[in-house]
Amino acid sequence: MSYDPKSLKAEDFINHEEILETLEYAEKNKHNRELIEEILEKARKTKRGVECAGLSHRDASVLLACDIPELTEKMYDLAREIKEAFYGNRIVMFAPLYLSNYCVNKCVYCPYHYQNKEIPRKKLTQEEVKNEVIALQDMGHKRLAIESGEDPVNNPIEYILECINTIYSIKHKNGAIRRVNVNIAATTVENYKKLHDAGIGTYILFQETYHKESYEKLHPAGPKHNYDYHTEAMDRAMEGGIDDVGLGVLFGLEMYRYEFAGLLMHAEHLEAVHGVGPHTISVPRIKRASDIDPSVFDNGISDDIFAKIIACIRIAVPYTGMIISTRESEECRAKVMGLGISQISGGSRTSVGGYAGYSPEERPHDTEQFDVSDQRSLDEVVRWLMEKGYIPSFCTACYREGRTGDRFMALCKVGQIQNCCHPNALMTLQEFLTDYASEETKRIGEELIAREILNVPDEKRRQRAIDYLSEIKNEGKRDFRF
Ligand code: SF4
Ligand code: SF4
Repeated sequence: MSYDPKSLKAEDFINHEEILETLEYAEKNKHNRELIEEILEKARKTKRGVECAGLSHRDASVLLACDIPELTEKMYDLAREIKEAFYGNRIVMFAPLYLSNYCVNKCVYCPYHYQNKEIPRKKLTQEEVKNEVIALQDMGHKRLAIESGEDPVNNPIEYILECINTIYSIKHKNGAIRRVNVNIAATTVENYKKLHDAGIGTYILFQETYHKESYEKLHPAGPKHNYDYHTEAMDRAMEGGIDDVGLGVLFGLEMYRYEFAGLLMHAEHLEAVHGVGPHTISVPRIKRASDIDPSVFDNGISDDIFAKIIACIRIAVPYTGMIISTRESEECRAKVMGLGISQISGGSRTSVGGYAGYSPEERPHDTEQFDVSDQRSLDEVVRWLMEKGYIPSFCTACYREGRTGDRFMALCKVGQIQNCCHPNALMTLQEFLTDYASEETKRIGEELIAREILNVPDEKRRQRAIDYLSEIKNEGKRDFRF
């Protein structure tokens, strides 16, 4: 067995020996200033001010290992520069929607594991899905990530497809869910084809840990125990026609440097085999929940290390969106946002049926998957982002225009982002302000839009966006996009 990013076998593309050698190389060079400066230079913007080369897992691991404060600052500066070039000050908003917590797996870090008798089991009916979606639309959400445990009897693929269909069919007031991302267990090519045909956005599957031995211990029973089947899932998803896939590890389970190298090797593998890297990378950290105490996992990471991981991912894979959830506190989110995060959840509930029928202050805990640290409403998160100088975006234009996979990368590479994402973000924000925001949020938002619209470089496009904004505000029109 040797490292081969083009192989379709998990043990070749997430090659354990290669990761160990990488970690050794990183440790040996963590104070090698010359090399680190060289790596940073390599990763810096190149052609026409927008293209970035990215980094290999080896180079990126050296950056992560380096603990020289002044070089760490340089990494942060570069991460901010790259984030600014590709994502500007926009942050895309989404919310999770939990469909069912029935699960046949025994993941030791998750309260939905089948042996947890303390947690009530619940699966939404289509009527309940509808109510949840209406509640989410009433908050202003346009983009959802559906979540479900693995249970072929209670949550078969037909159930998931039916839910997706229900979600897309609901048009409530001025609202509609325009993109449904799916986070369900690893499955077959045939089922991925069905998800693709149902019009899903990104297929998200967290690896949890790339360390095979730990993986098997952390998943002692159930279909998820099979490391290879799980690790090779993204190849099957892509074979099934899904262009956008989202990777992630649960930081805190294994040594973070190991996970980091594995994550980047996975990204390199997708690029080598399918010609397109992951659409997103999520960076969850393990949290307290029913029957789960995170302190029993001794690989927890501090906020500082967490920030460094985010900056190094941003530098290594500049075209990949990065997602942070409400697992993280307001303080932590504020700290890492500028280092490369492009998407955050807002107003989230991590329980099955957690939205409909509850006021913003009420929060059902009985079926929660994990504690939500950031408990603010979507309106509050949107206002907070704007006060920090970010543009909350509800844009789903690429998905709706068929710009997925490598076509999305092409948009980045030709530098059209500022003419496309920027006005789209502002127009979708205007929809949010008009339809859902509180007076104060609206006031702050409209001032921000008036300032930011001037930053659309192309004059014609800028004028069109100004006209569309007026039509959204004054004529009740919706869903403009570039
Ligand atoms: S992490 Fe997913 S597969 Fe594992 S127990 Fe929880 S819901 Fe089930
Ligand atoms: S235009 Fe595409 S890449 Fe830009 S924010 Fe919208 S969906 Fe994302």
